[in-house]
Amino acid sequence: KLHNTILELKGNIRVFCRVRPLLPEDSAGTEAKAFSFPTSTEALGRGIDLMQNGNYPNMHTVCIFAYGQTGSGKTYTMMGRPGHLDQKGLIPRSLEQIFQTRQSLQPQGWKYEMQVSMLEIYNETIRDLLTTNRSCSDVSRAENGTAGKQYTIKHDANGNTQVSDLTIVDVRSSKEVSFLLDQAAQSRSVGKTQMNEQSSRSHFVFTLRISGVNESTEQQVQGVLNLIDLAGSERLSKSGSTGDRLKETQAINKSLSSLSDVIFALAKKEDHVPFRNSKLTYLLQPCLGGDSKTLMFVNVSPDPSSVGESLCSLRFAARVN
Ligand code: ADP
Ligand code: MG
Repeated sequence: KLHNTILELKGNIRVFCRVRPLLPEDSAGTEAKAFSFPTSTEALGRGIDLMQNGNYPNMHTVCIFAYGQTGSGKTYTMMGRPGHLDQKGLIPRSLEQIFQTRQSLQPQGWKYEMQVSMLEIYNETIRDLLTTNRSCSDVSRAENGTAGKQYTIKHDANGNTQVSDLTIVDVRSSKEVSFLLDQAAQSRSVGKTQMNEQSSRSHFVFTLRISGVNESTEQQVQGVLNLIDLAGSERLSKSGSTGDRLKETQAINKSLSSLSDVIFALAKKEDHVPFRNSKLTYLLQPCLGGDSKTLMFVNVSPDPSSVGESLCSLRFAARVN
């Protein structure tokens, strides 16, 4: 109830900070954490509560982001720790929840269809993570920086986004989605060896589309859930980055600052929202404005040596909150 009240009071944009625990590989001899906060599981728990209480069964469009420097816990927040069933992230948890809800609504006559797509945006270029002829297109990508396919983003009259040539897969269980997630992870790591640790330098966008129809009342509902593991937000020293690295950094800075500008404009209910300034915001345009729900986890490391980056991330959080 309290969460619902907060939701109503504060509109459609929520920001949470998640501080990961200290790790053995953090600065040697670190004892003092740079932050003191409630435990991370509480925060994640609250985030999921908000999603569930936040009218989720009515199929809204939802975007959930993980923002932060590399190593701060974005992928852990989204995916969890592979092989540790007690440490699942938002993607597997939300899918289990959704398939359970689907099951529980069946007796009332609801039938749902679900479709998944997964892509990454690297240097302002979209890459399909579920394409089957992965190896061929990777070669062409490595050679000229773009896929043979164009993956052009279009918004149709009904406000739906279409990415031309993007693979979209029908799914019937959370197991099927796990299989696709593994496929996407493999596809990302192929890119990684060829393209200079690409995965922390690219945005990962998981999209689940749901359409439901009630066979007795003929009522129809639609929803879209986007779960986004953003590229690392760390700033590289200006002198140190040249060539490809500089280009990557500029692309990341551009899209993260566009995201911040868009969320800021939406929160302030400004007339002009600059969606078109980056691929990421243009892709997510129909899922960010209007009635949709946006949740952002700002991940920070408790390592005192990361305090500069953590402060930048918290400033970002304060701006979009
Ligand atoms: P990022 O995706 O931001 O680069 P990761 O999610 O890979 O960061 O996290 C970096 C390391 O910290 C990983 O070894 C991960 O397992 C660990 N980690 C991150 N968040 C947590 C957490 N909340 N609890 C335990 N370990 C965590
Ligand atoms: Mg990561």
